[in-house]
Amino acid sequence: MGGKILSVASECVPLIKTGGLADVVGALPAALAPLGWQMRCLLPAYRPLLPHLAGMTEVLREADLFGGPARVMAGQVAGLDLLLLDAPHLYDRAGGPYSDEAGDFADNPQRFAALSWIGARVAREGVAGWKPDVLHGHDWQAGFAPAYLRYHGTGGAASVITIHNIAFQGWADAALIDVLRLPKTAFTPDALEYYGGLASLKAALVTADAITTVSPTYAAEIMRPEFGMGLEGVITARAKDVVGILNGVDAAVWSPALEPIPYSSDTLGEKAKTKTALLKDLKLKVKGPLAILVSRLTAQKGIDLALAALPEFLDAGGGLAVLGTGEPAFELALRALAARYPAQVSVKIGYDETYSHRLFAAGDMVLVPSRFEPCGLTQMYGLAYGTLPVVAAVGGLADTVIHASPAALSAGVATGVVFHPVDALGFAGALRHALRLYHDAPIWAKMQQQAMASDLGWGRSALQYAGLYQRLIT
Ligand code: ADP
Repeated sequence: MGGKILSVASECVPLIKTGGLADVVGALPAALAPLGWQMRCLLPAYRPLLPHLAGMTEVLREADLFGGPARVMAGQVAGLDLLLLDAPHLYDRAGGPYSDEAGDFADNPQRFAALSWIGARVAREGVAGWKPDVLHGHDWQAGFAPAYLRYHGTGGAASVITIHNIAFQGWADAALIDVLRLPKTAFTPDALEYYGGLASLKAALVTADAITTVSPTYAAEIMRPEFGMGLEGVITARAKDVVGILNGVDAAVWSPALEPIPYSSDTLGEKAKTKTALLKDLKLKVKGPLAILVSRLTAQKGIDLALAALPEFLDAGGGLAVLGTGEPAFELALRALAARYPAQVSVKIGYDETYSHRLFAAGDMVLVPSRFEPCGLTQMYGLAYGTLPVVAAVGGLADTVIHASPAALSAGVATGVVFHPVDALGFAGALRHALRLYHDAPIWAKMQQQAMASDLGWGRSALQYAGLYQRLIT
C-alpha cells in the first residue's frame, strides 16, 4: 500500500483560500501520510506567495508557458511539501486568485490551463527524481490536467478529478482550443466540446480515470438536472467511476477545547457562558436560542429562504447572529432585519475567521438552508461545538446531520434538524421544530452530546482516498 500523489489545485490552506476547496487541499497531505501516501501540492505562485520562493529549489523550467517563461520551485512551506509554479506573466498581479476589482481575469483559461499543463508534465516526467503515481486535480482550475495526460501522454500516471462545486466549470471560448494546446480532433460532444465552447471541468470529467466529489449524496445529485448544472449527462455516463468522499474537519483548528472559554460535552455550561458574553457584547437581549449564520451570502446558501423564515423564529423569542459577505441585496436585507429586531439580531458584513469561531462557540444552532451543498463545513463545525445544525436535506448536509425524527430521538442518535422540501415553508417548519427541541432541555442536551461525539475527522475519508489511489495504480 502507498505511493506518490501530485495534488494540483488553485488554493491551499494556510497559503491561499477563498473557500472549502482550500481546506481540503491543505488537510489531505497530513491525513494521507500515515497511510503511506506522499502527497505534494502544485500551486500557482500568486503574488502573496512569491516571498516563499526564496527558500525553494528550481526543479523544472518551461521556456514558453502560455505567453512567458515559467519554472517550478520545490520546498517545504508551512508544513506542506510544495511545488510552486512561478510564472509572473500569469500570477504576479494584484487581486485574488481569480479576479480583481474589475472582475474575473480575462486570461483565466490560460492561467489555469498553465497550472494543469505543468501538473501533467510533472506527473508524466517527474521532477528531481520524484515521479507521482497519481495526479489528483481539484475543480475546474486543474480540469485540463487529466486531458493533457490523455492527449499528450500519461507517462504511466493515473488521474483523479475532485469536484468541490459543479457550478464552476471553467468556461473557455472554442477559439482558444489551439492556444490551450488541446487537439481539435477532440472537439466533439463526447470529448471536449461543451455547448459550443470548452469547459475545463468537462474536459476532466471525460478524461480522468476517476471522479470524486465531496459527499455521497452530492455524487448522486449531480447526475440529475437540478444539481448537475449542465454536466449531469457527462457525470451519468461515468457513473461507475464516480465516488463521494466526505470532507473532514481539522480538530487542531475547530475544537471547542481551543476556544477562549473551553468546554467539552461534559461541561456544556461553559458554552452558556460564551453565549452570555457574546450577547452582552452584541447588545442583544435574547431569552430563547441563539441561531448563527456564517456564510457566503448567495442564492446557493438559501439566504432568501432564511430572510423569509426567520421573522417567525424571532417573534417566538429566538436570536440571530450573522457573519457573511456576498450579494449586496442579501447584505441589505439582513441589515434591514437587524433594524427591525434590534435587540435580537446582529449582522456583521465581512470575512472574519476569529469572530466565526466565537459564533460557533456561543451559538445554540447554526443555520444552513443551502439549495445545494457539495459537502459544507459549517454544519460540521456546528456538530463539533454542540451548536446544532438546522440544514437543508441536500448534499453533504444530508450526509452529516442526523435529523431529530421521533425514531432518531428515541434511539438517542439525533444531531440536528434536516428539512425538505428546500423552500421557505420547509425552513420555517424546521426552525419551529428546532425551537420545540431547544425548550426541552434534556433532549437538547442529549442532542448536543451526540453531535459533539460525531466522527468528523479526516481519518475515514483519507482511507477512502487511499483505497481509490490503490485501485488506480494496481
Ligand atoms: P463554501 O466553500 O461553499 O463557501 P463551505 O461550508 O464548504 O462553503 O465552506 C465555507 C468556509 O468559509 C467555512 O470554513 C466557513 O466558516 C467560512 N466562512 C464563510 N463565510 C465566512 C465569513 N464571512 N467569515 C469567516 N469565515 C467564513
